[in-house]
Amino acid sequence: MNHTAPIKKLGDLFAKHGLRCTRQRTALYEALSKSSAHPTADELFRSLSGKVPAMSLATVYNTLEVFCEVGLAQKLPGAGANGSARYDAGDEPHLHLRCQKTGKIADLPEPFGKQILEVIPENLIKQIEKQLGFKVNQIQIELIGEDLNAEHEAVTTVTPANTKTRKPKHETDCNKQEEAYQKSLDAALHPRMPK
Ligand SMILES: [Zn+2]
Repeated sequence: MNHTAPIKKLGDLFAKHGLRCTRQRTALYEALSKSSAHPTADELFRSLSGKVPAMSLATVYNTLEVFCEVGLAQKLPGAGANGSARYDAGDEPHLHLRCQKTGKIADLPEPFGKQILEVIPENLIKQIEKQLGFKVNQIQIELIGEDLNAEHEAVTTVTPANTKTRKPKHETDCNKQEEAYQKSLDAALHPRMPK
């Protein structure tokens, strides 16, 4: 999910989550939060490689794990090429659409996600918590299927370019949320779904 936190506030965001602000963390979080493509660690590494000093693939993996641990990002397991995990900045709960042909993941626009989450009975969750002794902090749901609008490119051709070619942040801050919403809406709406 795209986030609109200005770069200067990243330091505050990291501090809030008990993290030191390093150049690698800042660059990685920026790249992750700018992308609506739910990139893999490898894709993030390729988009940052050579631009950020001391940014190795291991650094990318480790930093992403740290982001997930402190709640700054979500890990979506086994969705990318070769079963690589995909990552999503932010901790706002939202549902995902996963295309089995391309391996791509898109955010389900909030109105749909909200409606799905609303029909999960609260007392059922409470019952599960009580009976299993498991505190539910978040519910993640994926709608798995086929994006009928996709031109079924190979899973490996996914989009670091997408991250790279976006306009500079200062140009897009105001429109970014709307743009992200439109993008995920485009991805989500296909002829079978009512408008
Ligand atoms: Zn997402």
